[in-house]
Amino acid sequence: MSSNTTKAGNFIRQIIEADRAAGKHGGRVATRFPPEPNGYLHIGHAKSIVLNFGIAEDYNGTCNLRFDDTNPHKENIEFVESIKQDVQWLGYEWNELLYASNYFEQLHDYAVQLIKQGKAYVCDLNAEQIREYRGTLTEPGRNSPYRERSVEENLDLFARMRAGEFQDGEKVLRAKIDMASPNINLRDPTIYRIRHGVIHHQTGEEWCIYPMYDFTHCLSDAIEGITHSLCTLEFEDHRPLYDWFLDTLQTPSHPQQIEFSRLTLEHTMTSKRKLTELVEQGFVEGWDDPRMPTIAGLRRRGYTPAALRDFCERIGVTKSDNFVEMGVLENSIREDLNQEAPRRMAVLHPLKVIITNYPEEQSEQLNAPNHPQNEAMGSRQISFSREVWIDREDFMEVAPNKKFKRLVSGGEVRLRNAYVIRCDEVIKDAHGEIIELHCSYDPDTLGANPEGRKVKGVIHWVNAADAIVAEIRLYDRLFSHPNPDSARDGQPWTAHLNPDSLRTLTTSLVEASLGEVQAGEVFQFEREGYFCRDPQNREGGLPVFNRTVTLRDTWAKIEQKSAAG
Ligand code: ATP
Ligand code: MG
Repeated sequence: MSSNTTKAGNFIRQIIEADRAAGKHGGRVATRFPPEPNGYLHIGHAKSIVLNFGIAEDYNGTCNLRFDDTNPHKENIEFVESIKQDVQWLGYEWNELLYASNYFEQLHDYAVQLIKQGKAYVCDLNAEQIREYRGTLTEPGRNSPYRERSVEENLDLFARMRAGEFQDGEKVLRAKIDMASPNINLRDPTIYRIRHGVIHHQTGEEWCIYPMYDFTHCLSDAIEGITHSLCTLEFEDHRPLYDWFLDTLQTPSHPQQIEFSRLTLEHTMTSKRKLTELVEQGFVEGWDDPRMPTIAGLRRRGYTPAALRDFCERIGVTKSDNFVEMGVLENSIREDLNQEAPRRMAVLHPLKVIITNYPEEQSEQLNAPNHPQNEAMGSRQISFSREVWIDREDFMEVAPNKKFKRLVSGGEVRLRNAYVIRCDEVIKDAHGEIIELHCSYDPDTLGANPEGRKVKGVIHWVNAADAIVAEIRLYDRLFSHPNPDSARDGQPWTAHLNPDSLRTLTTSLVEASLGEVQAGEVFQFEREGYFCRDPQNREGGLPVFNRTVTLRDTWAKIEQKSAAG
């Protein structure tokens, strides 16, 4: 991907530029994106991907994709594959594809080295006791009774841990640092634990001891020669531990950990744990449900890689946590699709119109441009005949106010890309429901203004003879509360799911040209919004179109109103 776009500077880029100028790390820049394959990537990960891969591109460096796979019971190969696909879809190529598990033997050797240095010991306290001994933020911890085991005994016990002689939780290997440290992360953290009966997606049943994240991450970075290890702010307090392992073990290189703020987006969730709950408890259809903030969900919703990258550049990278409004993400896709999406017509709530002065056996092909501002996008043919459908919302017997520029009884309106029609008669059923309009058309108004009068309104329509019935899924925000996690109203966060996040229409009609489109293609349905052809193709089912985003930010209005009281 080209990197000739000017990117906003940020504090990380400033650090890197200063390091390069000073010749630190030999002037090299090497980053990595280190997801744990325990779920699908979400929009927060996109921020980290754009940052890590973007920096590598801009400074002629490298970026590895490294799976942080030290929790095999939560991980699987489906997640590994989805993550690879999502990174590539976003437009990035990794330098190397790696797994922390590639280093299990080396990490084990580093652990043995720590034991030999008298800097690690096997501890028999159970998880609860370890917590108890650890102390609190205000009280120092206490030394484990096993802390003073000899190097020989520790080497023997660690070897037997590896050989599978002990049960899960019976023993752990801990770093010997300082139980009184004001930083709890330095109070003899666990570095290896026992896990039997799991089949690791990469190493199978080779190991029954697994290294902890803090031990694994810094050493993996050092082994790969990463120069700048970018992570989110919650790891700031872990940095002294990151540095302690690298200093104590005198690794060949010492990468630099730099923290930045996590992305939190309003009206959704950017935590894999929460997203897992939504999937597992059936609140959504799956990881790629178009309401999910996952890359897979956004892709199925009709988001483009360009829009997501643009969004990540816009929100920037800082040290302070803040909520980003959903409107910012929506604007990125709206701007992209306004340029790129071909225009089509679709009638979501159909109302039949009979054009009484149009001959019954006649039909004609009209030319309709694919984009009003971009001639290069060409045009298509649409057919017109005596019966067409318009949207129910585009007709009222009497205009409610002067702003209503659509069709009214006795009034005129232009059918987009076609003629001006007049409503002569409103047909109702026995309950007074409008079922049909009888109109007449003015044959002189194709591509021309009507004689002697102004017709301001333009509405969309489809031709009854060849329109296709489609299923339209109108997606909205997943949560009605902007920040369901901190609603603090005594309700669980799932109580704030938006009950109207999906409305399905099954009687909508789309123009004939939409019968032959590929999954994933996005269109502007004129006057309605942007819609993407869903990949689902149920046998004999209707073609499905997902609403990517509305044409305007309708939530901005709702929120203004509720703020005004
Ligand atoms: P989660 O809490 O959602 O499970 P995680 O940090 O455990 O996220 P990882 O798979 O470990 O998920 O994350 C891979 C990388 O992506 C890490 O470097 C992490 O800091 C970064 N990342 C994860 N979530 C966000 C976010 N919301 N904003 C920015 N970066 C993120
Ligand atoms: Mg993590």
